[in-house]
Amino acid sequence: MNIPLFLFRKTPPADDPEAVQRETCLLKEMKTVAGLQIYSGYSLYDYSESSDFVRKIQAARFPMAVISWQSVRATRWLLRKLREDFTEEETLMIDLSEQKSVNEILTVIQKFLDRFGDTASTETKMETETLIPSRRWYPVIDYGKCISCLECVNFCLFGVYTIDKENRSTVCRPDSCRDGCPACSRVCPAGAIIFPEYDDPVISGRMEAVSSSAPAVSQPLALQKSDSAKPELDRLIDQLEDFDL
Ligand code: SF4
Ligand code: SF4
Repeated sequence: MNIPLFLFRKTPPADDPEAVQRETCLLKEMKTVAGLQIYSGYSLYDYSESSDFVRKIQAARFPMAVISWQSVRATRWLLRKLREDFTEEETLMIDLSEQKSVNEILTVIQKFLDRFGDTASTETKMETETLIPSRRWYPVIDYGKCISCLECVNFCLFGVYTIDKENRSTVCRPDSCRDGCPACSRVCPAGAIIFPEYDDPVISGRMEAVSSSAPAVSQPLALQKSDSAKPELDRLIDQLEDFDL
C-alpha cells in the first residue's frame, strides 16, 4: 500500500509567488517517486475539524508524511488534536519554511519510504483538494510543555479557552480569537502556546524561548522601557482590549 503524504499548501490569498513555485515544483517531483498517495490541500491550520479534507487525514493510516509551511511543533499538536493515535515515530513532518531544497526534501521522503514503504508499490497517486478554507487565527497548545496553570483561561477575554475533564486548558472556541493577537502566548509561563502564523519564531514554534520559565517571546514586553511603570499584565490586557472589539 502507498504511504499517505499530505502536502498543505499556503491558503490563498497568500500573495507569495515563491511559495507557490516551491509547492508546484515539489509536487511535480514527488509524483515521480513510487509508493506515495499524495493528498494536496491547503493549510492544515485553516481547516475546520468537520471538513472533508480533515476526514481524509483522520482516515489515513500511519506511517504518513506531512509537509506544510508551519513549524513541526505546530503541525505535531494540530495532528495530535485530530488523531488520538498520532505516533511521532511513524510520522514524517517537514516545514517548508526551512531552507531545504526540493532535492533535499525528496531525499528525506525517499529515506522514509525505504524504511516504511511497500516495495511492491510502483506508482504514486494524487488527489487535489479544490475547496479553499477560510483563513483562521487561533492558539495551538503544546501539551508537552503545558503545566496546566490555567493562566490562559483566566487571561483571555473572549472565551477561547476552557478547562477540560483532566483540568487542562483547551481551546474550545478557536474562531473567537482576535485576528493577529498573540497576547496569551506572552502570559503563558511555559511557552506552550503557539500561533503558527505569527512571525516571531518563538511564538510560531520554530524556536525555543531562552528560558522555559520565561514567556514565549523573543523580546518580552516586560523588557520594553517606554512604559516600565505599568505592570506587564495590565499592558497585555490593554493590548488585548484594543483588538477589534
Ligand atoms: S498558560 Fe500555558 S501552561 Fe498555563 S494552562 Fe495555558 S497553555 Fe498551559
Ligand atoms: S490571542 Fe488573545 S483573543 Fe486569542 S486566545 Fe489569546 S488572549 Fe484570547
